[in-house]
Amino acid sequence: VSFCLQFFVGGNWKCNGTKDSTSKLVSDLNSATLESDVDVVVAPPFVYIDQVKNSLSDRIGISAQNCWTGKGGAFTGEISVEQLKDLGCKWAILGHSERRHILGEDDQFIGKKAAYALSEGLGVIACIGELLEEREAGKTFDVCFRQMKAFAVAVPSWDNIVIAYEPVWAIGTGKVATPEQAQEVHVAVRDWLSKNVSAEVASKTRIIYGGSVNGSNCTELAKEEDIDGFLVGGASLKGPEFATIVNSVT
Ligand code: PGA
Repeated sequence: VSFCLQFFVGGNWKCNGTKDSTSKLVSDLNSATLESDVDVVVAPPFVYIDQVKNSLSDRIGISAQNCWTGKGGAFTGEISVEQLKDLGCKWAILGHSERRHILGEDDQFIGKKAAYALSEGLGVIACIGELLEEREAGKTFDVCFRQMKAFAVAVPSWDNIVIAYEPVWAIGTGKVATPEQAQEVHVAVRDWLSKNVSAEVASKTRIIYGGSVNGSNCTELAKEEDIDGFLVGGASLKGPEFATIVNSVT
């Protein structure tokens, strides 16, 4: 944890769950003891946001997993920022690797979404991260900096952004980055912010790690100075394990 930034843990439920399993997960989260000085948010599938908002303790914030690039209208299948705010969402995850690599979203499109979400008062969990072949080709920093730049040219301010470094090879694979691998990229990203945005933004922006974080590996990762929290997929579907991750802050 760097500069005593408030730890931030997000649970990305992805395209999982039913009304029943969601209700069980919410009740597990409601009965969990969560470290008080950690920001905690969960990102349910759009269709369950309302159910979660109406049953989850206010201690935990709600994030969307995506959003549209501007005001709503004739955009079949999309969800607008205004609709998300209407449901009580405070955040949107943008640029997740599954949206980049399965749905084909590019840097510019993601930047546009981030700019619009922020302008409407939604916080943005801005995801970056390299593919395995990019890491093996020594391009990890190039890729992360390119993705950072696309956010930087688009957004009006960094006040309401959390950066999630999620190496694609670590997502959903059980192959977590080592604390050293994650720390190395987090430092580089903070340095990039300092050089390309400002020293103040670099020191205040939380950089969280995602990719196969679980109840057993979170404590070692959380010890790294520049890891300011986690974005958790699979392990966030289990209430007690997610609570362990929230409470891993050292
Ligand atoms: P995972 O997913 O924890 O299941 O690897 C992380 C993410 O995609 O945010």
